[in-house]
Amino acid sequence: MQRRFPDVNAETFPEDHPLRRCHGFIFDVDGVLCRGDDPIPGSPEAIDRLRRGGKKVAFISNNSTKSQSSYVEKFARLGIPVDAHDLVLSTYGTAQYVAAQKPQARVYMVGAPGLREELELAGLVLTDDPMEAEYVVVGSAFDGSGRVREDNIDRITGALRALYHAGAKFVATNPDRLFPAQDGVIPGTGAVIGALSYMLDQQPDAIIGKPSPHIVRIALERLSLGPDECAIVGDMDTDMLSGERLGMTRVFVRSGAMTEEKLLTLCAKPDFAFDAVIDMLTFKEA
Ligand SMILES: [Mg+2]
Repeated sequence: MQRRFPDVNAETFPEDHPLRRCHGFIFDVDGVLCRGDDPIPGSPEAIDRLRRGGKKVAFISNNSTKSQSSYVEKFARLGIPVDAHDLVLSTYGTAQYVAAQKPQARVYMVGAPGLREELELAGLVLTDDPMEAEYVVVGSAFDGSGRVREDNIDRITGALRALYHAGAKFVATNPDRLFPAQDGVIPGTGAVIGALSYMLDQQPDAIIGKPSPHIVRIALERLSLGPDECAIVGDMDTDMLSGERLGMTRVFVRSGAMTEEKLLTLCAKPDFAFDAVIDMLTFKEA
């Protein structure tokens, strides 16, 4: 019988490496491969070595403001060549989820142009009339400085009306409550979810980003691999939780926003922990 996967060459993982048996690796982006626009040292090399060793890789992000195509350019700047097929952002995942539930559904959106682009690419029909909406899709209403975006100024009211009067379904890109900007935290998508949930006393019908497994499932489908064949690599409890929910191997890296001590208090125990993704390959586990 033909082998399903090529042999892993020695330069990817040594013979006795416990991650050698994983055929696919799903990477979070911020805090794992980069900080903002700066690559974390060794991350492009790590991805390159995994690929050369026959491993499949995919990248997931809760980012709710960018389209897949704009992220391809970000990765090029980081020195990690990808095409859109390697990426699953929460914008894309949300658009795919809604389109699978109801093709060509009428959507009232709160969020950035990158979210609009993915919703349109998925064949959904964007409407500015809350009373027409079948779905309300919520991403972040804020710009990078934490101001409500000009084009979102009346959209929380619009979304409220679509949910309250028109009975639209409530889908959110990601549950992140806040986002670390350069000069302090700014509200995340969770600020919009929280406002609507509180007003309506109703939780969203679905949230696509981590720690929900939806976004990871889409990445697994991309790799044509099962969860037990793959590892998830992340810097936050949400990465570990989404992997745990699907039964994946969980790899924590200390290069991001959360300390290992904090992680362990949140009941999201990883299988392995490393300082950075490049250390994963040599298995210098501390
Ligand atoms: Mg991260």
